[in-house]
Amino acid sequence: MAAESQDCILCRRSCLDGKQGLYVRGCHICRDCEEKIISIAIDDPIYQIYIKKLKKIWSQAG
Ligand SMILES: [Zn+2]
Repeated sequence: MAAESQDCILCRRSCLDGKQGLYVRGCHICRDCEEKIISIAIDDPIYQIYIKKLKKIWSQAG
């Protein structure tokens, strides 16, 4: 299973063409999650969860 996942790394829904928001280091983030990240309050616990997941991706790639 080395193939790139087409699933959103945050909500695990599949990101089909057109629904993809961001593409970071081989990982997809769907439009819904992209908008959430942009609009969410920094002190919202969900924001922290998202950031944690994003950091994982960034630290993993090399
Ligand atoms: Zn998503």
